[in-house]
Amino acid sequence: MKKIAILGSTGSIGTQTLDIVKEQKDIQVTALAAGNNIDLLEKQIREFKPKLAAVWKEEKAKDLKVRMADFDVKIVSGMEGLLDVATEPEGEILVTAIVGMLGIRPTIAAITAGKKIALANKETLVTAGHIIMPLAKEHQVPILPVDSEHSAIFQSLQGEERNAIHKIILTASGGPFLGRTTEELQNISVEDALKHPNWSMGRKITIDSSTLVNKGLEVMEAKWLFDVDLEQIQVTIHPQSVIHSAVEFEDGAVIAQLGTPDMRLPIQYALYYPKRRSFSGRHLDLFACGSLTFEKPDMKTFRGLALAFGAMERGGNMPAVFNAANEKAVAMFLAEKIPYLAIPDIIESSMEEISFVADPKIEEVLETETAVYQYIESRW
Ligand code: NDP
Repeated sequence: MKKIAILGSTGSIGTQTLDIVKEQKDIQVTALAAGNNIDLLEKQIREFKPKLAAVWKEEKAKDLKVRMADFDVKIVSGMEGLLDVATEPEGEILVTAIVGMLGIRPTIAAITAGKKIALANKETLVTAGHIIMPLAKEHQVPILPVDSEHSAIFQSLQGEERNAIHKIILTASGGPFLGRTTEELQNISVEDALKHPNWSMGRKITIDSSTLVNKGLEVMEAKWLFDVDLEQIQVTIHPQSVIHSAVEFEDGAVIAQLGTPDMRLPIQYALYYPKRRSFSGRHLDLFACGSLTFEKPDMKTFRGLALAFGAMERGGNMPAVFNAANEKAVAMFLAEKIPYLAIPDIIESSMEEISFVADPKIEEVLETETAVYQYIESRW
């Protein structure tokens, strides 16, 4: 029996992780954490029987405790609750499927407690990769990527330990607005931006995919995970989402991973690594794929990607500024408070205005987030 804990069990990645648990039947869920959705969390507790469950707000945790009075489960809340879930003694793998920098502290706690990390929460690596990666090395804990592109790179690197990476080819679908001009993006509605052509994901990441900010975050994530220079990462638009990413080695050989666009595949690979398991979802049919196409990203129209490269080049707390500004801007766009094209404007302005810290500690990374939020609230 594998034993896993999940941060963000009620979200898109969290529920798909539980789909795998249901299908494979040899994974025990030791702990679950959610934000607000206690209706779904209650169902999950009754079905998967974890010993521990966390809900962010104390009142909701109290409510859940009342509902679960007939059940043997401990309910906790707040950051302490997330830390308890992350370090629950029986868990071997922590699936970090929470959104945002909230994932940093629990991930650090889990690594320190010797848990393997199945990492979906890219914001943790984007903003604190300089702390997380050395810590994982120190504790000899693997960071197993869940993001489909990073899983593809990870899979392409298996057996290649003695070979240096020449280039990482990070593929991107291009999102729903591929080929549009800045003019044409001016009146994009929330509903338009939430329609992803290939992948079904949470709301925030779907917007990030449409702006290419998600690809920018993935560039940063890849840099930390695979220890390469920024110049070695090439973003390639591949609208069919068949090639999930690839690695080019020094001899020019390119090794890629292909598959259907189904997040359960990379999640399952991370949970069972290095073993592969059978998968009941649709398998790839190359005859049905038609032609596969590739193009350079349009970084002038989709400025979020160019800004991400800029943030990573500057380093320090700039990726945290980039990430926090985007998070806030996307939340404001989803609440229909700002137009679509204000998202990159807000990121750029935050990167200009927030004080630079060259080698931020965790506290400084988190302070950066607060400073960015305050700045944006005072300006927009
Ligand atoms: P969702 O928005 O679908 O889910 C987020 C989860 O986090 C929910 O379970 C939510 O709980 C929980 N959560 C939010 N706030 C808190 C809190 N304060 N305390 C505890 N739990 C909280 O996100 P996704 O699943 O789409 O994304 C999760 C992460 O995975 C992100 O970092 C994303 O970038 C990454 N990712 C996602 C992919 C995808 O296909 N969805 C692909 C690759 C990476 P509740 O709903 O109960 O409020």
